[in-house]
Amino acid sequence: MDTSRDARLPRHRLVWLAAIFALILAASCLAGCGQGKAASSGTQGGSSSTPEVSDKMSGTSSTATATSAAASATASDARSAEERSATSSSANDVKPEGHVCYLTFDDGPSSHTEQILDILDQYHVHATWFVIGNTGHLDKVTQIWDRGNQVGLHSYDHEYTSLYASTDNFVSQMDKIGQSVNGYLGFTPTILRFPGGSNNSYDTGNSEQLKQACRDHGWHYFDWNVSIGDSTPTPSPVETLVGNIEEESADKHSCCVLMHDSDAKPTTLEALPQVIEYYQSQGYTFDVLTADSYGYHF
Ligand SMILES: [Zn+2]
Repeated sequence: MDTSRDARLPRHRLVWLAAIFALILAASCLAGCGQGKAASSGTQGGSSSTPEVSDKMSGTSSTATATSAAASATASDARSAEERSATSSSANDVKPEGHVCYLTFDDGPSSHTEQILDILDQYHVHATWFVIGNTGHLDKVTQIWDRGNQVGLHSYDHEYTSLYASTDNFVSQMDKIGQSVNGYLGFTPTILRFPGGSNNSYDTGNSEQLKQACRDHGWHYFDWNVSIGDSTPTPSPVETLVGNIEEESADKHSCCVLMHDSDAKPTTLEALPQVIEYYQSQGYTFDVLTADSYGYHF
């Protein structure tokens, strides 16, 4: 009897202890969940208002995770904003290995830009725009950028004669478009494409000085190794453009493809789905140009 009574008392104590322990456990779990939610909502708002140092640190790491999660929600191969806006102190002289395709659009934005973006989204691929400032559509760089694409510079007014008349003119044109883009995106791109390419018939024998000016300013210039052939005065038929792509890409592992985003070139827009499908059928992956990409210089 005594034994059983003695045995009952500890059991009561054990029940109370278990109950208290469970309460402590539940309270600490609730506190933990609350901290998690606070960090998460701070991340979404871009805020670092969490008071403790450790919370700030975890908030920073959550921001990086949330950014990459948002990028992967858009498309699995999207580059983060940090990667796209990064600068580089040296040029990359090594061609990428494997089948990589860089779709590039010069002379935009234009009235076609939204449709181009819709097509890229549909195929889950991204492209690089080299933009000019006087098309009346420069505000669209925000859409281009926000949808995971790249923005580079191509001069403000695209007037070859004045652009190439002197190194100062060239630098001033790139500065002007860079500042205009900065007004929309909050940073100045450091990648650019010379109108007409880096070796063109418009420069005044000063192409080496222009390239040196690029290096002096930390700008990385990109030519191309495939052209869709849409620089003709009148738009070429879609079949011709797609044929150009297939012919010029046949012997290349990586392709930097010159196209134009211009009101005057509707067939480039019409050909784009077939261009993307061609590269996909050949096993290419798509990427955007960054400051540390290979330059495809002529
Ligand atoms: Zn151009």
